[in-house]
Amino acid sequence: MATTPVRVRFAPSPTGPLHIGGVRTALYNYLFARQHGGQFIFRIEDTDSTRFVPGAEEYILEAFRWLGLSFDEGVTFGGDKGPYRQSERRHIYKVYVQQLLDSGKAYLAFDTPEELAAAREATPNFQYDARTRGRMRNSLTLPAEEVERLVEAGEKYVVRFRIEPGEDVVVHDLIRGDVRINSSVLDDKVLYKAADELPTYHLANIVDDHLMEVTHVIRGEEWLPSAPLHVLLYRAFGWEDTMPQFAHLPLLLKPDGKGKLSKRDGDRLGFPVFPLEWKDPVTGDVSRGYREDGYLPEAVINFLALLGWNPGTEQEILSLQELVEQFDLAKCSKAGAKFDYVKGTWFNHEYILSKSDAELTPAFLDILRAEGIDATEERARAVVGLMKSRVNFVKELWPLCRFFFVAPTDYDEKTRKKRWKEQSPAQMRELVGVLAALDDFSIEAQEAAVHAWIERQGYKMGDVMNAWRLTLVGEGKGPGMFDISAFLGKQETLARMERALEALQ
Ligand code: GLU
Repeated sequence: MATTPVRVRFAPSPTGPLHIGGVRTALYNYLFARQHGGQFIFRIEDTDSTRFVPGAEEYILEAFRWLGLSFDEGVTFGGDKGPYRQSERRHIYKVYVQQLLDSGKAYLAFDTPEELAAAREATPNFQYDARTRGRMRNSLTLPAEEVERLVEAGEKYVVRFRIEPGEDVVVHDLIRGDVRINSSVLDDKVLYKAADELPTYHLANIVDDHLMEVTHVIRGEEWLPSAPLHVLLYRAFGWEDTMPQFAHLPLLLKPDGKGKLSKRDGDRLGFPVFPLEWKDPVTGDVSRGYREDGYLPEAVINFLALLGWNPGTEQEILSLQELVEQFDLAKCSKAGAKFDYVKGTWFNHEYILSKSDAELTPAFLDILRAEGIDATEERARAVVGLMKSRVNFVKELWPLCRFFFVAPTDYDEKTRKKRWKEQSPAQMRELVGVLAALDDFSIEAQEAAVHAWIERQGYKMGDVMNAWRLTLVGEGKGPGMFDISAFLGKQETLARMERALEALQ
């Protein structure tokens, strides 16, 4: 078995907020690294300065902090293979570009945008490759002195990869098996742009994966078309022996049909496609995030882990540790995974249930404060305990639980018609007496006294409880009556009943 330690990387380009598909890619890399006791590297691929968005890098780091996914090495994490931000590695790429030029595997191309446009015009499906490069303005067609003169003169050349046609290129993919193509279909990709003294994604990506000793490249399916080129680059450098293994993850699909999940689907159907809220620095537009929408990070992780992989059992609730143990790259699906966002809310519900009341209480206290309610931790926690099983999100507690903290001032008409019967006023008057006589207002003590009274009088349990609920809650909802009255306490319970008796005359 291989003895090389597993090293994987997540290498986003800081072009905006991290898409939820990118979070899944990072998660799978994380699981794979942890499962193999390997290292997880955070690299920033920022060689395309035109697409750089301020704040994106910080946003990405913040998202992983929130999710609890940790890196071992990389931007802000240190390590001995840095710098880990590609814009800080220009000097390194230059050496490797030169190596390809010296070995004849790459060449300089001086074609202006106008010349390229003209070539496209003249030749249908024009592609810069072995068939066409002989008619273009590059170091293969121009005399050496002319090339030198142009470079000296500061001409804005690019370096292109010289792809030999007719070669069989095989990408060994751990999920898809062997993906074969012929090199003739590939174009002579631009590897370097003299204008900004920076390599393109392809070259920087390969050089860095090599120098950072990456063993597995786990990334989204959208990068599969680049993989043959990457294999050829490894060959051109003579690095085949240490070429990483590839795994291209299935696409995330729209919840309601075919095609790639997009931000528009989220806007249309009402769910976030970003881990955290994002404010566009240019337009000021705000996009919602899973965190701000009230998802627990564990729920998001569990939900994403199962989009494209499953443990092969019925088990759906898996802790991060269980995911680390059970995850299997080879069992990822090739087919795209439908983004079932409703399932995401189910996961959140399950994780809310699994949390202790005390863990959920701070979030509920925040909501209470925002509503102007000055409740103690203990009282907030009691309500969380009574009501958490009914919600998918902590924020849903407030509309359900308002009555615990605010006495009703009006009484729901429908409930009143149905539940407030002719005998109700007299029964409630008696009940006030029964409760007022209690010294111990615990659930058990109230229950015993009230049940005994109902039995003695021959009343119907349902009649009494429904009317009583209307007096304390103002409508027909809520948990058990004794839970409510015990929470409110004797004084508040009796006060609410008196007020209702008056209002419901
Ligand atoms: N910078 C690329 C991205 O934004 C990295 C692709 C790869 O993992 O090779 O996803």
